Amino acid sequence: MKPLSERMTLYMDAGFPILYIATFEEDKADRAIEEAAGNREVVEWNVRGLLFKQSKEKVDGVTLPEALGNFANPNQTGSEKFAARYDLRRRVLVLKDAQQFLEAPDVVAQLKYLSERIVSGQLTDANIVIIAPRTCIPKELEHYITILTVDYLSAEEIRKIIVRFCEEQGLDALHEDFLRELALAFKGLPEFEIINILSLALADNGEIGRADLALSHEQKKQLVQKSGIMEMVPLKERIEDIGGLENLKAWLKQKAKVLKNIDKAEAFGVDLPKGVLIAGLPGCGKSLNAKAAAALFEVPLLRLDMGRLMGKYVGESEANLRQAIALAEAISPCVLWIDELEKAFAGISSGGGGHEVTTRLFGTFLTWMQEKEGLAFVVATANNIEHLPPELLRKGRFDEIFYVGLPNPQEREKIFSIHIGKRRKKDLAGIDLSALVKETNGYSGSDIEGVVKDAIEAAFTQDKPKLTTELLLSAIRSTASLSEIMKESIEKMAKVYQERHFKNASIS
Ligand code: ATP
Repeated sequence: MKPLSERMTLYMDAGFPILYIATFEEDKADRAIEEAAGNREVVEWNVRGLLFKQSKEKVDGVTLPEALGNFANPNQTGSEKFAARYDLRRRVLVLKDAQQFLEAPDVVAQLKYLSERIVSGQLTDANIVIIAPRTCIPKELEHYITILTVDYLSAEEIRKIIVRFCEEQGLDALHEDFLRELALAFKGLPEFEIINILSLALADNGEIGRADLALSHEQKKQLVQKSGIMEMVPLKERIEDIGGLENLKAWLKQKAKVLKNIDKAEAFGVDLPKGVLIAGLPGCGKSLNAKAAAALFEVPLLRLDMGRLMGKYVGESEANLRQAIALAEAISPCVLWIDELEKAFAGISSGGGGHEVTTRLFGTFLTWMQEKEGLAFVVATANNIEHLPPELLRKGRFDEIFYVGLPNPQEREKIFSIHIGKRRKKDLAGIDLSALVKETNGYSGSDIEGVVKDAIEAAFTQDKPKLTTELLLSAIRSTASLSEIMKESIEKMAKVYQERHFKNASIS
């Protein structure tokens, strides 16, 4: 992506009247605006009033409706000074703290009026830029507003910040490998936070060491949390915790090798991995795989909540998705886990078209997947792909599409031994796993985990010294399997997977 100032220049030159920068980093947006404005004057409105940046003139206490009204009608007083002050030609009007006023009818009306005058060429070389932490655009202004996302620092820029910090503090130069690791760990954070973390680390024990990586992790977690639409998921599950699904695991291991040696792989001609769609029955290990993939790749896991993406304002959902993508790319390498994909995109192309917002959201997502260059590896999971638009399933979007079905007997045995081993390792040798396998045809991994948990609790409450096969069999008898509960939809889904030639996650 081009730097923010360059993108702004492009839009400004093309006469786009209002640019909307969704960020809480006002400093960064200010710098980009200064660059994009060139020799035009920047005029800022914030809750304190107006500030004319070139002349340094201040007009305190002007409200937003007043200020906009004056720019809309600079000749209202007949005074030349007033008319010159509020002439928007060859100026960039920046609005900060404006979010809460954007719904007011007079503000909307004035912005619309000014936009029309910019578009028609009456206000030459004028632009309005809104800087706000979140995107909320009134419907009436939708056509005039273009949403932009801020730049994040590249690993190279972060590296320079760290080196400069060490020099300024008179510290020894950091080892090259550690410097690279640190720069990667800081990815996604703004400069002031990086400096804060480094200062904190230094104040703590007088040096910057590996232990300080945890600080950046914590900060990043907060950053992701603040976005409101993503969360950083702790990585407890490993690939070894997955019973079966050998095809999928082998595929992920292959991708891990590429991602961990990306420079060499690219030089060799290997394509950058984009991501995988894992579809299939509930409780059969889809989420488990998303988590294990991040652990395997040794990168953070960001979970995108499709439900929270849908905003109430026009363009908000799309802007949220763009913001999430930009943040994931900034933090990358990472795994971007899109859970319950079907909830967001189901039904888009099934006759009559889906909701307009969803369709646009889908377009944004598809384009990103198609053109993706960064190292944000997508793991999308879906329970039901029946209603997913076919474009999504076409080659070129995901590297591969897997389906996970009910575990076969060998897989059930492994899942039993994983879950018993996790909780009662010493009892595992005495358990007749094949007896359990025989009785659990049609059980999902999650059902099996439930059986193990119930049996262990029963052993404890019945004062038994250990977990036994009999206790497990009894827990099986009182658990309804997934295939009993979802018989019909399982059969239907299996057919769809076969028809669409999805790869089986298990070795059949
Ligand atoms: P949902 O669509 O309901 O979210 P899911 O397919 O994502 O289902 P998971 O969350 O991955 O299911 O599985 C639920 C739990 O079941 C896991 O936390 C895990 O403990 C257990 N489980 C499922 N499949 C397996 C497996 N193949 N090996 C080991 N444990 C499994």
